[in-house]
Amino acid sequence: MSETKKLEADVVVVGTGPGGSTVARDLTLQGKKVIILERGADNKPTGRPTAAVKFTGGPGKGMMKAQPDGLTMIRCLTVGGSTMMYTATAFDPDVEKFKKYNVDLSPELLDEVKTELKVAPLPDESIGSAAKAIMKSAQDLGFDWQKLNKFVDPSKGKPLAKNFFFGCEEGGPKWQAREWALDAKNKGATLLTNTYVEEIIAEHKIATGVLAKGKNGEPIEVNANAVVISAGGVGSPVILQKTGIYEAGQSFFFDPFCMTFGYLDEPTDFLTEPPMVTGIHTDDGIMVTDMSMPWTMHANYAVGSKKYFNVFRTKRAVGIMTKISDDLEGSIGIRENITKRLTSDDHYKLEKGRAISRKILRNLGAKDILFGGYGAAHPGGTCGIGSIVDSNLETEFKNLFVADASVIPEQWGLPPVLTVICLGRRLSKLLAQRV
Ligand SMILES: Cc1cc2nc3c(=O)[nH]c(=O)nc-3n(C[C@H](O)[C@H](O)[C@H](O)COP(=O)(O)OP(=O)(O)OC[C@H]3O[C@@H](n4cnc5c(N)ncnc54)[C@H](O)[C@@H]3O)c2cc1C
Repeated sequence: MSETKKLEADVVVVGTGPGGSTVARDLTLQGKKVIILERGADNKPTGRPTAAVKFTGGPGKGMMKAQPDGLTMIRCLTVGGSTMMYTATAFDPDVEKFKKYNVDLSPELLDEVKTELKVAPLPDESIGSAAKAIMKSAQDLGFDWQKLNKFVDPSKGKPLAKNFFFGCEEGGPKWQAREWALDAKNKGATLLTNTYVEEIIAEHKIATGVLAKGKNGEPIEVNANAVVISAGGVGSPVILQKTGIYEAGQSFFFDPFCMTFGYLDEPTDFLTEPPMVTGIHTDDGIMVTDMSMPWTMHANYAVGSKKYFNVFRTKRAVGIMTKISDDLEGSIGIRENITKRLTSDDHYKLEKGRAISRKILRNLGAKDILFGGYGAAHPGGTCGIGSIVDSNLETEFKNLFVADASVIPEQWGLPPVLTVICLGRRLSKLLAQRV
């Protein structure tokens, strides 16, 4: 058995999604010694479908099945976490929701992050013909359908559908957390990839580090004054459970979604245009947006729905996504097995979103409406503020913090990344004083 590699830092950060990358970069820029441990590799974003396989690690890893219903949930296990495949839509945090838990996400904090990342709606010239047609049809029907904010800087290049789902090449228009993880590394942090964190080292309920395994199973021990777990909605509760916080992961949300497609008589920009650039969010927790995508993804939906002929209609396609705020239900097991059943309220919301989508598509003249199956991509709420962590994101173990989508305290149903970055920044300001 190989000897344990021992390392020391001011702060050890586990995971490089938006939560972990924010904390790691902020603290590195403030002169702290930071070690970042990431279970995935640094897979290059190529914009090709093969990148998605590398980001997720395939079935059983990032492509998970929620039992017993078998609903597919996607997450990325790679430097940058799930932002490597996200559609980069930015939604402001629900400040009032967090205030109830004594977490003040102040307007100054939000402005700081939005300015730094140039969060804004896309200019008209970057929006494709499918999204434009959907927006016009929805507005004609009376929906308050508007452009959505994006983590996209069009001055860095034309945003294309493939950049969103298969990763955006370095220096490209879409922001991904990988940028900040690598920036932290360039500014002096140590980034260990292919390093799987197993559990926390603690004595008398004070965390002093983590135990991990390297690429070839070699043991690694990192000792630090503060431990920040940002392993995502599924990964973080598992680490906490292994540390003795068994309540973590005992219910969660994953924001189920479904697609509705239609086909026009004339060609659209469906295959190339940026997705999720316009839409609505209803008071009862339903988000409906345009959703264009590369050929392979649409083909999957067509084949999955046994509408094989639609594979050849992609050039005339228009697509709409429904995403809902699901009830906190189910559990994450210690082997990262996810159990969750949609409630009748969840089904109701998904079907209502489908009905809105069909109405909008029919109104713009689309034919052969195709409904894709249900999926999910935003696991969270597993280490909620007020139950597993306090308002400083600290657990019952002193110096052990969680900063990612798992701390969101209530059901959600919105793009979480902007909120996760704000929570990460707030924590790094606190830790900068404390370590
Ligand atoms: C297809 C898709 C589209 C999306 N679109 C949007 C969107 O438009 N807008 C939006 O806001 N959100 C979107 N999301 C969701 C968003 O990407 C996630 O909610 C967000 O990335 C969660 O951030 P996080 O920091 O909680 O964790 P993650 O991004 O999941 O990162 C966790 C990291 O921790 C690592 N890790 C896990 N376990 C361990 C361990 N034991 N040891 C070491 N490392 C570990 C993982 O490899 C991963 O890199 C989308 C997601 C998907 C999949």
